[in-house]
Amino acid sequence: MKILLMGPPGAGKGSQSEKLVKDYELTNISTGEMFREANRNNEQLGIEAMRFINKGKLVSDKITNEIVRKRLLRPDAERCFLLDGYPRTVAQAEALDTMLDKMESKLTAVINIVVDKQAILERMVGRRVCKSCGLSYHLSFKPPKQQGVCDACGGELYQREDDQLHSVKNRLEIYETKTKPIIEYYANRGILRNVNGMQSFDKVYEDIKKALGEVA
Ligand code: AMP
Repeated sequence: MKILLMGPPGAGKGSQSEKLVKDYELTNISTGEMFREANRNNEQLGIEAMRFINKGKLVSDKITNEIVRKRLLRPDAERCFLLDGYPRTVAQAEALDTMLDKMESKLTAVINIVVDKQAILERMVGRRVCKSCGLSYHLSFKPPKQQGVCDACGGELYQREDDQLHSVKNRLEIYETKTKPIIEYYANRGILRNVNGMQSFDKVYEDIKKALGEVA
């Protein structure tokens, strides 16, 4: 199964993908997480990417396509993967098609989580991420057992700079202008499934599974 999970920033893609990856034994490919990990490891690519990320801007298509291309070539991405946060522009969607064509592969489904803007602002400001393992939490919707501490690894939880209000607004605007057009791109191919993200985590997950059942 090769899935693409879409939705505006704060739609809950990260949390849903964590569960999907476990249940369906998929390789999780999150470009945002790859950039943050490269930054944690002090790699040049990560440090450069963070300059854009912290302002709520997109990293260039060239850099992003290249890390995805390399990642897709690794053996664990051959059979099943879940792409989270990529593609984010039509140029990236076209580049992904080229990569998959070369691998004689194609996407099984594109799941689009639909939410409203006000809810997004609320969600993003409450999001906390583990400094060590990258797992994400939410102060209201998915709190950790112990405040400020990751349930999985005991790492420190922090608020991403790009989850602060000015960056969130910037990211939403970019989503509207650059990422939304991709929805039509995949709808035209008949593999797009919209899921209502304005429900509990479990209900959204259930709907995603149903949608996957229709196309997989
Ligand atoms: P995410 O964790 O998916 O919310 O991504 C965090 C940030 O990483 C985004 O706001 C962008 O700055 C950058 N980023 C992640 N994926 C991409 C992408 N496909 N294209 C460009 N920038 C990206």
